Amino acid sequence: MSYCVHCGVELERSEKCCPLCHVEVINPLQPYDEQAARPYPRLLDPINERINRRFVGTLISIILAFPAFLCVAINFSMTGRLTWSLYVCGALALVWSWSVPYFLLRRRTLNRIFLPGVLALLAFLLLIAWLSQDLSWYLPLAMPLVLLPAILVYLNVFLILRRLIRGFAIPASILFSTGLLTVGIELVLAWHKGGLTAPFWSFFALIPCLAAALVCLSIARRQAILDEIKRRLHL
Ligand SMILES: [Zn+2]
Repeated sequence: MSYCVHCGVELERSEKCCPLCHVEVINPLQPYDEQAARPYPRLLDPINERINRRFVGTLISIILAFPAFLCVAINFSMTGRLTWSLYVCGALALVWSWSVPYFLLRRRTLNRIFLPGVLALLAFLLLIAWLSQDLSWYLPLAMPLVLLPAILVYLNVFLILRRLIRGFAIPASILFSTGLLTVGIELVLAWHKGGLTAPFWSFFALIPCLAAALVCLSIARRQAILDEIKRRLHL
């Protein structure tokens, strides 16, 4: 009889990993037997999870579609064309694009979840600009103000998910990005007003962010050195 080395659960002969904490258990005296009868079906849980996710995704879609149809019907019956209801539909479509793909997609990668959401936000802002018949603010203001934080968030999540940064390097990267974002916002706003001036108020956010990021980086570096010393001395 084998027991999980992590949580102590008793394992059947058919189990290579602990069914509770998923730690792989290797018992040289009793290697796992793939042919042995399993206490529960292997594919039941993933299928159930997929069905539950699809159910939640469909439920959210219905909840969002109902007010959209209602607004379109009221708007069209009152004015004979679609005016204000397009704002509501756009906003609900935006909420849909940010929530439902997470539940419906089988493989949830950063590119599949995040990028369509950013495109949906840009499309919604374009819809507002088009409906208000004023496209002047869209390219110089809305697009950079959406793309700048989106690129920074994407980069941070990418680095964290790929484990390129870890420990205290994560808050350092987030703080550094926040500082850059404030400078970027000020530059975009200044450019939209008519002239690209040197950043002023954003420095008050940038400097503490950079200082805190450097503190985090030094802790991360110190942690890496301590870990290396411990590893070499077998502590
Ligand atoms: Zn376990």
